[in-house]
Amino acid sequence: MGLITCKFGGSSLADAHCFRKAAAIIRANPDRRFIVPSAPGKRTDDDKKITDLLYAWHSLARQGLDASQPRDIIATRFAELAADLGIAFDVGMHMAHIAAEGEQHTEPDYLASRGEYLNGLLMAEFLGATFVDPAECIFFDAEGLLDTRTYDALAKRLTGDGPWVVPGFYGATPDGRIRTFSRGGSDVTGAIVARATHSELYENWTDVSGFRMADPRIVPHARRIEKVTYRELRELSYMGAKVLHDEAIFPVRESGIPVNIRNTHAPDAPGTMIVASRESTEPVCGIAARKGFTMLTIEKALMNRELGFGRRVLMVLEEFGISFEHMPSSIDTVSVIVRDDQLGSHGPAVIKAIERRCEPDRIDLTPGLALIATVGQGMAGHIGIAAKLMGALSEARVNIRVIDQGSSENNIIVGVEDTDMESAVRAIYEVFTDHQE
Ligand code: ASP
Repeated sequence: MGLITCKFGGSSLADAHCFRKAAAIIRANPDRRFIVPSAPGKRTDDDKKITDLLYAWHSLARQGLDASQPRDIIATRFAELAADLGIAFDVGMHMAHIAAEGEQHTEPDYLASRGEYLNGLLMAEFLGATFVDPAECIFFDAEGLLDTRTYDALAKRLTGDGPWVVPGFYGATPDGRIRTFSRGGSDVTGAIVARATHSELYENWTDVSGFRMADPRIVPHARRIEKVTYRELRELSYMGAKVLHDEAIFPVRESGIPVNIRNTHAPDAPGTMIVASRESTEPVCGIAARKGFTMLTIEKALMNRELGFGRRVLMVLEEFGISFEHMPSSIDTVSVIVRDDQLGSHGPAVIKAIERRCEPDRIDLTPGLALIATVGQGMAGHIGIAAKLMGALSEARVNIRVIDQGSSENNIIVGVEDTDMESAVRAIYEVFTDHQE
């Protein structure tokens, strides 16, 4: 068996009890050699995440306000954690250093990263592992993208027996400043470490036993997904299935390292495996849905013969800095679906600009759209899937505003009124799992 990279999320390291569970998991398999911790998360629903407190600290300090409240809560949490774990840890010294350094930075990254940094130090101490500071071996380029020299640098640092602790969420810019990934970015660090070390498996330990076929807030009995491909997961997570950071797939996908989503609080549950390919017995592996879209519908007689029409429409969006999600079309109409947070308040101005550039017969904006993606590799070449899906929606009395199926045939997207989203998801789930219950 090859080596394993294990990332533990904030909820898996929220207090000493969780820390012990994580340590037991690590010790249960000596191949678990590369450990990537997040910052401590919430212990209860109304608790604070350390990373949120660090951002609050930064923001107060930037405004010249008193940041002692978040700072003190952070110091107390780490002091308690160290004491409960029986570790001698000079929290005061670390906090004084972090305060002196952090309050000089205009960007929040340095302070935001200190949750992972301190937690990594504690974890290394608790496990008797070697601490590796990502500031010295995870690099961003001038554009803020991962510098591929990271892989060599990490591989060099992580040779020997280990175990090693590499805190998640941050690295360094070419001029040596700390920079973080976007929120939830410890998942990305884990994937990078797995790839750099040629790990055989990337275990991502969190607080759920893997992905479910549909959001359990909508379908409480939704089944666990046993296996999903990187590609299917991309589609599902882009549409809102949030267990793993979107960007965490790329480093492992390139080297074909499977990812296993596991639950720290139920370590015997197999979780979900994310793999390069799978035998698909069932056509649909998951259903993801998201609200907050607007559809721009443009109609013009003989549009299909007008050269450059689509380009002109998209150019207008580009000029407004709006990226689009989907663009289903028919003979004389084309619809462009955009995210509300992209469109902002530009709707009327976009309409005017398209009127000027494209002289359409009609153009209108439909807000309040939800998109539902029904995803599954097994849909390709499988007759009747779309019919089944449409049938289920019609039975649930959901009006379909728009349909989009890419030619890859592993995703059918339907747009519905956002008030219909939940019943649509339930109807689709039931129709594709019915015979298996
Ligand atoms: N602690 C960071 C956050 O809360 C990164 C992570 O947990 O992955 O976003």
